[in-house]
Amino acid sequence: MSDMLPIFNTLEKEKQDILIKHLELVMDANDRVNLTRITNMDEGMLLHVEDSLSALEEIERAPIGEMADLGSGAGFPGIPLAIASGRKTTLVDARKKKMDEVSSIIEKLGQDSLIDTFAGRAELLARKNGQRYSIITARALSQISVLLELASPLLIQGGHLVCYKAKVEDAELEHADEVGRLTGMQLLSDRSFVLGGEYTRRVLVYIKSGKQKITLPRLEGQAQKNPL
Ligand code: SAH
Repeated sequence: MSDMLPIFNTLEKEKQDILIKHLELVMDANDRVNLTRITNMDEGMLLHVEDSLSALEEIERAPIGEMADLGSGAGFPGIPLAIASGRKTTLVDARKKKMDEVSSIIEKLGQDSLIDTFAGRAELLARKNGQRYSIITARALSQISVLLELASPLLIQGGHLVCYKAKVEDAELEHADEVGRLTGMQLLSDRSFVLGGEYTRRVLVYIKSGKQKITLPRLEGQAQKNPL
């Protein structure tokens, strides 16, 4: 199993232990609140922990400063990335019940000075903490164009949006280009790789490099209900 976790294996033992403990606590908490469909540690180490770490090189390339993980759920990819990179991180999820559980997990891990949580939609965070983050991450949240809309008002100029994707159709990319022009976001890098076995992945990075041509954030929920 451990040779399927190449990035995890490069981390210091202390960090590895925290990430294992995080996954264990998520699985324990699953009885109270639905945080993951994965119930087996080996599978969780690959599909949650190693998968989260797979964009570590993109995170290390981004400008210095804070990171926010949108639609973080049980803390993926935000918690593994924060522990591995040492970046101050905010996990954002609209579901308060999930964030309360994850917040107590972060305390148990002794990581509450590095990682905090925001229970609310990304659009609300943008009203409170606009143009503050150097990196926005998102896995399994939405199509890329929606991620561009949600991330743009949160990012500093020159900040990066790191999108975790499995399959991406050409139409999704073309539409993202269009929405990028409206939101001041441009494709910076695009990397495809095999996570392990049959799991292929793609990490796309967009940079906030221009001006928004529309006022963001729109009303809460509009980005997903009524996409650009
Ligand atoms: N990133 C995690 C969870 C993905 S599920 C993982 O990959 O395992 C998507 C999560 O996004 C859900 O928990 C949902 O509550 C949250 N979500 C959806 N839209 C959101 C928004 N606009 N702002 C904040 N959270 C949102």
